[in-house]
Amino acid sequence: MSNKWVGLLDCNNFFVSCERLFRPELEGKPVLVLSSNDGCVVARSQEVKDIGVPMGVPYFQIKDIIKNEGITAFSSHFALYRDVSRRVFSVMSEELGGIQQYSIDEAFFLLDCHPEEIASHLRKIIAKKVGIPVSIGLSQTRTRAKYANMLAKKAKGIKLLSEQEWSFLAPKIPLAQIWGVGGKMEIKYKNHNLLTAYDLMSADPQQVRTLFGLMGLRLRDELKGVPVSTGVKKSDTQHTILNSRSFKKPTEELAVLADAIAYHLRHAAASMRAKSLETRSIRVFIRPSRHSDFVLQGGSKEIVLTQYTRDTVELSRLAKRALEQVYRPRVPYKQAGVVLGNLRPVGVNQPDLFSLPKDKNSDRLMKVLDNINAGKEGKDLLTVGSRLKQSEWQAKSDNRSPAYTTKWSDILTVKSQ
Ligand SMILES: [Mg+2]
Repeated sequence: MSNKWVGLLDCNNFFVSCERLFRPELEGKPVLVLSSNDGCVVARSQEVKDIGVPMGVPYFQIKDIIKNEGITAFSSHFALYRDVSRRVFSVMSEELGGIQQYSIDEAFFLLDCHPEEIASHLRKIIAKKVGIPVSIGLSQTRTRAKYANMLAKKAKGIKLLSEQEWSFLAPKIPLAQIWGVGGKMEIKYKNHNLLTAYDLMSADPQQVRTLFGLMGLRLRDELKGVPVSTGVKKSDTQHTILNSRSFKKPTEELAVLADAIAYHLRHAAASMRAKSLETRSIRVFIRPSRHSDFVLQGGSKEIVLTQYTRDTVELSRLAKRALEQVYRPRVPYKQAGVVLGNLRPVGVNQPDLFSLPKDKNSDRLMKVLDNINAGKEGKDLLTVGSRLKQSEWQAKSDNRSPAYTTKWSDILTVKSQ
């Protein structure tokens, strides 16, 4: 058993907190965020949760509630959320050294000692430097830390879940509340009479392996306090990265589609490199509106590469070729997107007899590109591929907050008396 603490830091109601950063008067008031194209609810403040608005509910169904309850609704503003996320994790990295980012608003970390002091320092410094409230759960494995984080949200933002307390709680924790157990898995465990965390911990390992495979066995270990994975291992590797968006208005023009595809490719490739992954397949898709007569005219084209790459220039060229193959004139397209597939962590070397030696310059160029873009407010300034006016194809988001942190034109104006 490891004597280290595994911590999970999770930003509270993240998208809502990002919006409140620049609208402090909304603190303590009900706020929600809608998915792109204002489709449905993707984030809720505590006040909205208390009113009883469920996650994922379509916007049109709650228009009256929003009005009657005085809820402020924002359209998703991913450039802002990505930027705030980057700030949170860079403060975290500065303080801790290595962290493992798990999602846009969560990251794991390891501590040897003083867990409570460090966690409390982290919360304070993130509040001071970024302005975002976070919760921190600490325990002996990632699965336990995730549960501790859930308790932290109900406590004062920090929960240290000791071995002793875990042993006490485990028989009372329904498996459904454990990270990664949901839907079909939950039912499967239930069918074998495994209802609580303790039930799985005390089940026979051979039987767990036979019934639930390696995943079940790993979960059992994690619950027992034996960490199975603290770094990026194969089971953690994301298999695809998708970047796509609907257009404000339909377009029939290849140039506009090419620009949207180039934009999505740049973002997908940068996010792939940020996660230290490389790809061997790229898929481009374009879709007409689901409600139009052209619904069957959409298309997608996948290109499988002979070797893994991280190179935006190479991927852009392939994306353009794929687009030209699926594009049909006089079809009003409503959405375009890019999927990078067959991902693997960089450094996994399975030499291919037929592959050419890697171009070292490409890696260097990509590093420069990512560094410059990370430094610039706006993230998309130095680009590869064509760029039209983005208003040609960008999503409809009537309630989007200004790009306070990523566009100079939207920066807050402070009035002095
Ligand atoms: Mg969160």
